[in-house]
Amino acid sequence: MNALSNAPDQPLLRFAPSPNGFLHLGHAYSALITNSWAHQMGGQWLLRMEDTDPERSRPEFVQAIYEDLTWLGLTWPKPVLVQSTRFDVYKAAAEKLRTLGLLYPCFCSRKQIKTNATGQTDPDGAPIYPGTCKHLTPQEISARFADKFPVQYRLDMDKAVAKVGALSFTIAGPTPSDRPKISYANPARWGDVVLQRKGTPTSYHLSVVVDDAAQNITHVTRGHDMQAATDIHVLLQFLLGLSSPTYTFHKLILDDEGYKLSKSDHSQSLRALRKEGATPQSIRAQLGF
Ligand code: GLU
Repeated sequence: MNALSNAPDQPLLRFAPSPNGFLHLGHAYSALITNSWAHQMGGQWLLRMEDTDPERSRPEFVQAIYEDLTWLGLTWPKPVLVQSTRFDVYKAAAEKLRTLGLLYPCFCSRKQIKTNATGQTDPDGAPIYPGTCKHLTPQEISARFADKFPVQYRLDMDKAVAKVGALSFTIAGPTPSDRPKISYANPARWGDVVLQRKGTPTSYHLSVVVDDAAQNITHVTRGHDMQAATDIHVLLQFLLGLSSPTYTFHKLILDDEGYKLSKSDHSQSLRALRKEGATPQSIRAQLGF
């Protein structure tokens, strides 16, 4: 079964950073390659601020993203879609899944999940949710709400997968304009993912799907590290009746030891490199542009 397809006139690509740290060389590569593909395809490159995580998103990182991208020589249409202004929209999408009977409340702490873990892990290496709260009785649920336990909502993956059957989507590569191939999604390998986190009515997975559709994104371009998570996104698109873009996965920029760069490794941040004398031209040249 295919998610609904979408065919606006102009290719629309996006760079969608989460402002929970400073941009590093890996982000610069992703922004530059996506921008270059958008222009080669006669399309537009949009910027989206994925700032829905109340614990990690910070205004100074939002500001730094604008500054660093401008410094690199990139421009984008305004206004920028800022996810923290759209909680109502994500809430409505979650409501739709709730009405379908696909969300359930989970009161587990990280520690409890670790303690009850079955040993199975998801593609990112995290423990698969052991299903502790899936079988709570309505009385047990009410008691936890009454006791003000922090709550998050999980997707009932078995039910969701049973609803959609085989799920295909389109991958194009190595560039988005290459001939697309049909791929099959396997979201079940993620288990019951969280779609509404504690303290916020959404999660990365829910917001990204809602906004790629809201912005009519035709081609989602992201690193290979995000390929497996795309299975969850394709499932959500189908359940919510949203359009499914074409996906292209680009290479990752690795450090000297061969590891993916991380926001906690400040040495590779664009700011740190700039302080050491890097220029937009030297960064572009280093990344092959
Ligand atoms: N906001 C996500 C991140 O910074 C990426 C979004 C996406 O490409 O889907 O990791």
